[in-house]
Amino acid sequence: MQTIKESLINIINPSNGEVLSEIKPSSTSEIIEKIQKAKTAFPLWSSLSFEKRITYLQKIYELIIRDRRDIATTISKNNGKPLTESYLTEIASTLQVMEYHIKNGAELLSEKNIHLGVLYPAKKSFISYVPYGTIGIIEPWNYPFYLPFSAITKTLLGGNTFVFKSASAVSVVGKLIEKICLKAELPDGVANFIYGDGSAAETLINSEIDKVVFTGSAEVGKKIAEVCGKKLLPVSLELGGKDPAIVFKNCNLDYACGGILWGALSNSGQACASIERVYVQSEIYAEFLEKITNMAKNLKVGDPFDDETDIGPLINEEQVKKIEGHILDAIDKGAILHCGGKRLSTSGFYFEPAILSNVNHSMKVMKEETFGPVIPVMKFDSVEEAVYLANDTHYGLAASIWTSETGNIKKIAGKLNSGTVWVNDSLFLQAHPKCPWQGYKDSGYGSCSIYDFVRVKHISLDQGYIPSLHPKSFWWYPYKGKARSFHALIEVIFKDGIKEKAKATFQTIIDFLR
Ligand code: NAD
Repeated sequence: MQTIKESLINIINPSNGEVLSEIKPSSTSEIIEKIQKAKTAFPLWSSLSFEKRITYLQKIYELIIRDRRDIATTISKNNGKPLTESYLTEIASTLQVMEYHIKNGAELLSEKNIHLGVLYPAKKSFISYVPYGTIGIIEPWNYPFYLPFSAITKTLLGGNTFVFKSASAVSVVGKLIEKICLKAELPDGVANFIYGDGSAAETLINSEIDKVVFTGSAEVGKKIAEVCGKKLLPVSLELGGKDPAIVFKNCNLDYACGGILWGALSNSGQACASIERVYVQSEIYAEFLEKITNMAKNLKVGDPFDDETDIGPLINEEQVKKIEGHILDAIDKGAILHCGGKRLSTSGFYFEPAILSNVNHSMKVMKEETFGPVIPVMKFDSVEEAVYLANDTHYGLAASIWTSETGNIKKIAGKLNSGTVWVNDSLFLQAHPKCPWQGYKDSGYGSCSIYDFVRVKHISLDQGYIPSLHPKSFWWYPYKGKARSFHALIEVIFKDGIKEKAKATFQTIIDFLR
């Protein structure tokens, strides 16, 4: 385990590279104290009715609507995304998740009856949903407001308390989330916040918490899975992606280029489900390249607060270096750069979107998560080849298909190894609470739904206590003569078709009478 650093963390404004704020990392003893507080608060919070828990969520929801200008400003300052995206992909997405759970939470988590069928007339079965206890929530920097509040909403609704660690680069947004929860006056100890780098999160997952909800890279996700595996600590992992887009010759080219551009460059390409590889059918390859290059050249990279800005800065220097590395590696191996691909200024982390062609799967840009404004484009001839290339990755988060022939599209979508497939769309409904969101392969496991935040409890009740009606289950001791009964009954019960069942029943009666 890494040791926790005690020096202040500099939070950088990505637009100018200057220090936006300094934050004191939580010490080990502070983290342990927060976990204890969360555990102490659990019995009270979990005993509150849904209605009561929902009143607190409603307060948070209203505070977010009321303070949305300040919230959007803080997100754009700390993360660098254009103000439009702060409103759309952070605040509106958060409100959408909260509204859905406020309205439907009681129903989603209400007790459900299971009908066991005529064979078990005296039995009744119920499923209820119970909280885990204290959940450790660890989130990345790319959606610093939406991702935490999506997890916090479901954590609280499920009756859990939590300890949350934001990514250190966006601790200013983390502090804002803490302030909002404080203003909502949640009972003492229910919502706890810690700050710092990976070492603070390691202390959290090595403690006595009851579940981990993690969103972040596959690399860190695997480390967390290892720690949780040793303790059999339940964990949900929402990890990275290398999402392909398949463009068929019959697509509407303008529409496809527009959708791919947004899906690849929104949030400066720093989304888990960003389009990171584009496969274009050979007949339209040249036309596609020309069109998307012209469109990319027209996008405005700049200050997140400038109304004309389409693409804000990257989060930090580390991201700039990583993306430059991927582009250089591709060019070294024969790729052609059609536009952009370089840093725009020395202050701030602005980066011109790049379009690359002549790429192949030996290049980093086609294999590793780039997480930046880079669109590598490759040619394919047949559907089989497109599916093979799209699946040739160790990730499996999402994929998109662009075509005007949708009649048979579910067949192709079914062959793509990813949790979500968009047809003629990108990045949409990732945040919609009705839609599942889960990765295959190195993109993790967990569904992001409310049922990831509760345990399932099954209660089965046999009314055999009414002796005259139902003296005892007939498979109980003694076994004498029962092997013969079961031999016969298996056919009666499980054989298909009324005729066959009737024949088996008749034979069974004859056997018993002999
Ligand atoms: P990251 O994995 O570096 O960090 C995520 C969080 O884990 C941070 O809070 C970090 O402090 C913490 N952490 C770092 N080392 C740790 C350790 N050893 N033990 C425990 N916690 C540790 O990811 P990032 O760079 O902040 O975010 C980008 C990644 O997140 C990308 O891979 C992206 O695809 C992924 N992501 C996935 C989804 C999804 O829904 N699948 C959504 C958003 C982002």
